[in-house]
Amino acid sequence: MEVVRITPRGYCHGVVEAIRMAKKVGAQNAGEPVAMLGYLVHNEHVTRELEEHGVRLVDSDDRVAGLEHIDSGTVIFTAHGVSPAVVDGARARGLRIVDATCSDVTRTHDLVRRLLEDGNEIVYIGKRGHPEPEGVVGIDPARIQLVERVEEVDGLDYPPGTRLAVTCQTTLSMWDTKAIIDRLVERYSDIEVHNEICLATQERQEAAVRAAADLDCVVVVGSTRSSNSRRLVQVVEERAGRRAHLVDTAADLDPAWFRGVRRVGVTAGASTPTQITRAVIAALEALPDEE
Ligand code: SF4
Repeated sequence: MEVVRITPRGYCHGVVEAIRMAKKVGAQNAGEPVAMLGYLVHNEHVTRELEEHGVRLVDSDDRVAGLEHIDSGTVIFTAHGVSPAVVDGARARGLRIVDATCSDVTRTHDLVRRLLEDGNEIVYIGKRGHPEPEGVVGIDPARIQLVERVEEVDGLDYPPGTRLAVTCQTTLSMWDTKAIIDRLVERYSDIEVHNEICLATQERQEAAVRAAADLDCVVVVGSTRSSNSRRLVQVVEERAGRRAHLVDTAADLDPAWFRGVRRVGVTAGASTPTQITRAVIAALEALPDEE
């Protein structure tokens, strides 16, 4: 079986920078408590490594509530960004803040603030329960409407004449997002469109779909928590019509998936450590060829 390495894959600039910052803080603050508010990036291996560097995970669906578990020391905000209420809460508790928000997410926050100042209501396309939408919608929950699926556009009820803008989470499927934006433009022809899917997400999705056309199936290395890894599985299946398997490590590979497979592609989510992807590639290459 031929194993094709799909590129680009794996770590993006936002994840590399967030991990670098967290490790540095952990090393500098020996003796002082350091906590990351939620998974710094959505990967268990990265989380364990950071814990070894003295950075404790405080996991909570609600980040304002999560702050109640951090009494002193340093709090690290994750690459997904946080709402103003979280920043205020951390300050009120006297915590030192280290902000590891990805620059691409910060750009979306800045855009949303500008659109609100200009008098727009905002439709924000994103996944409910994911920290990135929580951070953006939290800028002004009364004026930012979260939409997850194309059908939800029909339930929106903006009066005629409303100044309206749409933007989105950075790690969505490019094609799903376009479908939602198209429906919004159909309903509200004057809507201002800002597609904020980040370049790293776009490049990984496009490369996976393009490569999959010449492959029998694709293995995506990443955590089930990782939005961009799950989207890679989705776009390979929906856009290229190929099977895709999400694995956290090489131990998750099932040899039965590869019966009759001549060419398998490997890609990885933006939060997947390179050494784990290498181990998956090695395990696939070690699978015995079928007679
Ligand atoms: S996936 Fe995109 S938005 Fe998220 S950390 Fe990476 S570069 Fe930043």
